Amino acid sequence: MIVCGAGVVGASVAYFLARRGVAVTVVERTGVACAASGKSGGFLALDWCDGSPLGPLARASFTLHAELAAELSTDYGYRRMETFMLAARERGTPAGGHRVAAPPWLDGSGIVLLAMGPWTGRLAGRLRLPTVYGLKGYSVTLDAPDVPAHALFVDYRTADGRALEPEIFPRPDGEVYVCGMADPAPLPDSPEGVEVNENSCDTLARAAGRVSVALAAAPITRRQACYRPVTDDGIPLIGPVPGAPGVFVATGHGPWGILNAPATGLAMAELVADGAAKLVDLRPFDPARLPSSRRR
Ligand SMILES: Cc1cc2nc3c(=O)[nH]c(=O)nc-3n(C[C@H](O)[C@H](O)[C@H](O)COP(=O)(O)OP(=O)(O)OC[C@H]3O[C@@H](n4cnc5c(N)ncnc54)[C@H](O)[C@@H]3O)c2cc1C
Repeated sequence: MIVCGAGVVGASVAYFLARRGVAVTVVERTGVACAASGKSGGFLALDWCDGSPLGPLARASFTLHAELAAELSTDYGYRRMETFMLAARERGTPAGGHRVAAPPWLDGSGIVLLAMGPWTGRLAGRLRLPTVYGLKGYSVTLDAPDVPAHALFVDYRTADGRALEPEIFPRPDGEVYVCGMADPAPLPDSPEGVEVNENSCDTLARAAGRVSVALAAAPITRRQACYRPVTDDGIPLIGPVPGAPGVFVATGHGPWGILNAPATGLAMAELVADGAAKLVDLRPFDPARLPSSRRR
């Protein structure tokens, strides 16, 4: 099986396929977790997707995250956190397409899984895939040791009246991650082309500084940007690509790709290796539910 894309979704599918004895080759264009998967908040929520088609996937994933953290030998910073929401204002603020051809080996004669995040949409010219967009966001990391394991969601107003919702996640290694700031900038051709806007990053750092003296004093260690993969209905595409035997897709996880990667990976491995997914019902994620963006 060939898995295209070594973000969290591709890596998870590859891991669970390998655990089932399937020989897997992962093809990555740039670097492992070089895009949204390596620049996300990594925040996991048990029940925030309840009431939507994502609910069962998220709950199964939440359980798998805990199991994976216990069984994998690497400590990658998994831990339980308390979560808070607060409102903050900047000082002085009143209250208030590009197309590329599919690679020639995508000929339907082997099994291939497409997990290239927002870049999966670039194959829509050849395959009957619904549109996959990239939604850009910024993040900074601050060097602020000893901040407790409290996830923080902030309702924030800048001095010029913009409403932001920064998310602040302290990590076990002494780093505090802050993200937010949606940007309509178009998806570049590859992750290397993602541009970082210094002003957006400064705004995020300033927002963090408004809620905590420790964060206001903390040096910025990284400024980064990435694109989360989104679909027209906000629900991921997980399943066979219509009209392309042996080709599967797993993308479009939007703001919850880190949370939902494990169950996506295990369910896809079940589908590919056993012919049906048992862990969760994949029908709500069927790529055929949305019109194809392929040019007729
Ligand atoms: C600022 C921000 C914060 C976030 N915070 C959270 C959070 O707290 N919790 C959460 O659950 N989710 C969060 N997310 C969402 C999450 O990061 C994404 O949903 C998830 O990382 C998407 O993973 P992916 O594997 O589908 O895509 P990606 O991470 O984009 O990986 C796709 C991979 O495919 C590769 N690729 C592209 N083209 C090709 C090609 N032609 N051939 C081979 N490989 C190719 C890319 O190089 C890349 O490595 C956040 C997203 C953003 C932007």
